Amino acid sequence: MLSVVGIGPGSLDLLTERARTRISSADVIMGNERYIELIKEIIPTNAELIIGKMGTEVERAKKAVELGNRKNVVIVSGGDAGIYGMAGLTLEVSGDSDIGVEVVPGITAASAAAALLGAPLSNDFAVVSLSDLLVPWIEIEKRLEGLATMGIAVTIYNPKSKARTTQLERAHEIFMRFRDGETIVGIVKNAERVGYYSEITTLSDLPDFYHQIDMSTTIIIGCSGTKNIGGRMVTRRGYERKYDYDLGDIDSHERGDSVAAGARVWEQSKAIVADIVSKYPLSEHERRVAGRVVFANADPSFMDLIVFKHNPIEKGIQCIQDGQTIITDIEMVKAGISKRYKENVKCFVNNPKTREMAVKENLTRTAAGFRIAKELIRNNIVVVGNAPSTCLELSALLEEGIKPALIIATPVGFVNAAESKEDMLSTGIPCIVIRGPRGGTPSAVAITNAIIELSFVEEQ
Ligand code: SAH
Repeated sequence: MLSVVGIGPGSLDLLTERARTRISSADVIMGNERYIELIKEIIPTNAELIIGKMGTEVERAKKAVELGNRKNVVIVSGGDAGIYGMAGLTLEVSGDSDIGVEVVPGITAASAAAALLGAPLSNDFAVVSLSDLLVPWIEIEKRLEGLATMGIAVTIYNPKSKARTTQLERAHEIFMRFRDGETIVGIVKNAERVGYYSEITTLSDLPDFYHQIDMSTTIIIGCSGTKNIGGRMVTRRGYERKYDYDLGDIDSHERGDSVAAGARVWEQSKAIVADIVSKYPLSEHERRVAGRVVFANADPSFMDLIVFKHNPIEKGIQCIQDGQTIITDIEMVKAGISKRYKENVKCFVNNPKTREMAVKENLTRTAAGFRIAKELIRNNIVVVGNAPSTCLELSALLEEGIKPALIIATPVGFVNAAESKEDMLSTGIPCIVIRGPRGGTPSAVAITNAIIELSFVEEQ
């Protein structure tokens, strides 16, 4: 009989009953020196030991199959024998021989490390090995890229050995490209063994701990749902989604899986956008705002059209934190602005006085709306998402000495849109503009909401 037995991470009390039984009734035990050492207390005195070196696995597996015909043979693997262990190879080598190969599962390093860190694998996760001894590095890199964009926790096995040191650095670069530097990362060395060490840090600080990382280390890179809760690494399972305050207290059953699916799409999109904006020489805040425009339009070319002038984001944050008013040109822009700030958003286009003025003064209704709002516009935020004529009216108000604190101008169209936005850029007032004929409500709303979000984050 031949059993391939996972012995768990190290400590004997994490060995399964079945593994213990197979080992104590073995005639022959095969394995790496390290694993044999870990179980030496329970090896029967009359068992024959065949200690193999790394790199002699195929030979060992063949020998085990041959001996298994006559004797109780146990091949030991660290952790789980079927996870980067000897089980697969033994089955391959045994082929269709009569010998029955039994695989006895064990506690894998990911489970052991996760338990020591807290509960970082409470939601979807993947495991990837950085060892390119058996898999070409280019393939590993592709997997890492895919996983990094997926927004799930990723467990890394074989992060580094004495001879292999660059793979971890490459993996880190890839994750930094797609994930927030603040993502929680756990490091566990020698889980359940002598020399145990663990650390909870962030993705951007991971390189500070490279000197601790070796081939007995498992790294768990969290996702956006992963938190450091009182020094434990915890990935939220999704219970927090049961009540969504923004949408009101709707039970998740009513919304089904759509929220989770939506969150996944959102995570992936965020990663793609992060990659696009990273190539532009912008400040972190500008990247956030520009990224929202790219995301809203699903169009990277907006990166070449968006212009920030006179520190507009900082001005916007200050205004929002002071609770100042936002005046929009059309109702659709108003409707798109974040619910958390909606009390402070005004639009005058449907005001009865606006209609009157538009007729009387031969203005467009949106332009008349701004004229009606004249006094309110002073020192507040104006958002023009649709009508170039509103920008022209804004220029007229400026001449009268009425200055808003911030102008967000993204009107759209072939007539006057581009020119009216260039005018806004030369007012000397902090402004964010989408150059050229393109833009529209989605861009205006994206910019405004990104600033609102930043204002709330910075306030905490
Ligand atoms: N079959 C094993 C994995 C073998 S790959 C299992 O299921 O656990 C070897 C890698 O596993 C190591 O490079 C390391 O990343 C991880 N590993 C194994 N034992 C570990 C331990 N006790 N503590 C931390 N990581 C461990």
